[in-house]
Amino acid sequence: MLRRSFVAGLGALWLPSLARAEAPLADNPFGLGVASGHPRSDSVVLWTRLLAAEPTQPLTGTYAVDWVIAEDERLTRVVGHGQAAAEARWGHSVHVEVDGLKPGRPYWYRFAVNGKGSAIGRTLTAPGPDERVPLLKFAFASCQQYEQGYYAALRHMAGEELNAVLFLGDYIYEISWGRNHVRRHGTGRPTLLFEFRNRYALYKSDPDLQAAHAAHPWIVTWDDHEVANDYADDLSPNDLDPGQFLKIRAAAYQAYWEHMPLPASMQPKGPSLRLYDRYRFGDLAELFVIDDRQYRSHNACHAELTRDRMLVDCAERLDPSRTMLGAEQETWFADALKRASGRWNLLAQQTLMAEAGRLNKDGKRAFWGDGWDGYPAARQKLLDVVAASPVKDTVVMSGDVHSFWATDLKQDFAMPKSRTVATEFVGGSVTSQGFSNKRLQPLLHDNPHLRYGLGDAYGYGHLALEAKAATVSFRTVDDVRNPKSGIATPARFVVEAGSPGVNRA
Ligand code: FE
Ligand code: CA
Repeated sequence: MLRRSFVAGLGALWLPSLARAEAPLADNPFGLGVASGHPRSDSVVLWTRLLAAEPTQPLTGTYAVDWVIAEDERLTRVVGHGQAAAEARWGHSVHVEVDGLKPGRPYWYRFAVNGKGSAIGRTLTAPGPDERVPLLKFAFASCQQYEQGYYAALRHMAGEELNAVLFLGDYIYEISWGRNHVRRHGTGRPTLLFEFRNRYALYKSDPDLQAAHAAHPWIVTWDDHEVANDYADDLSPNDLDPGQFLKIRAAAYQAYWEHMPLPASMQPKGPSLRLYDRYRFGDLAELFVIDDRQYRSHNACHAELTRDRMLVDCAERLDPSRTMLGAEQETWFADALKRASGRWNLLAQQTLMAEAGRLNKDGKRAFWGDGWDGYPAARQKLLDVVAASPVKDTVVMSGDVHSFWATDLKQDFAMPKSRTVATEFVGGSVTSQGFSNKRLQPLLHDNPHLRYGLGDAYGYGHLALEAKAATVSFRTVDDVRNPKSGIATPARFVVEAGSPGVNRA
């Protein structure tokens, strides 16, 4: 078991322990960095994973990893320390749940094994549940294909002042694709646990990704590429046998848990991992983290989808029984929103929620079947729940589409004058290639509720939340192929409390 321990008041006395098993640790056993996440008002999860000297020679046995957390960056005012077991069965990852912390304040932490220390990470607890909070700041990001660019955006994100980073999926990519690669995966599509572990280790070797983790707590959800492109529940377009695919999914989910700052309570059981969750940030916001991959109905009109991936005449798409969240999560979400009591509701989720139909030459609309447009009845249900919440202001943050968007989420997308229920922002992709501005124009033209779109750009979104307004800035790097790239803010939007919808600032 991963031990939860908390000892206060012992000062800075901190002795590294001896490993309990011989194994070839890397010279820097913390070469994958440190991370924190799952921030509550009194607790946080600290993460690291021990690195083997050779990726082909995984560590064996159990290591005792020391950890310490303090109120200052020099780790002198220690508020907790202990030892956690890094076990082979969990890839020698370490997930320490520290509780007894004070709300809304930064802490610094570090790990050590065999006399070698990790980098020092900084984290931040959530404000107290009833605290009056004037301002919250989040970065939201998705889609960091390793081969298609460097993580300059993440370096800039590390330098921001944030309550948390919201990562909305495609943390790794299982496949190589795209053009003009700046670096290589070097291995093929992972399907086994050790292959997924090595893919995460490759991504996490990036210093800018490590910096963003070491600077802020992360709240994470996933999309498809953590497992397999465009998968839905127990099927992927490339793995049509559910029995076979669920084995891949189990390996992928385990590697995901091992590499994210998630608590032991979220450890996967076989091919299942409950990732959806809620967070409270004082009186200002409740944040709902959604999983729209694990439980969704299979893609509608599968044969058509695999041909050109857009759905035109597909009656199955409209089937009211099709689900995106699954029955259990849907009930959880409806219940949570009915009882929501923050000033704002925030939704962190993976795929574009606004309808984005492309008008074909024959006057018919074509829809991308893998996002919410493949599940319009489920989307309607979700937006009805949002509209009925006692909290009238909801901001949705989304990923997946590798472009920046600001959208009005309509009660009825076919009726431009219908009520705007919530406001959605997609914070581009960190590196993954997507829509050109040229391809994006017809979508903007054919869908008036898509209020802004930006392609050919990479970066992330920044949300500054106050009682009276939510301000969203799109941050884009000058050159995704340059690890030292600068960053700019090409667009900024305001959502006024009490009046959902996009306003250009
Ligand atoms: Fe992606
Ligand atoms: Ca995706």
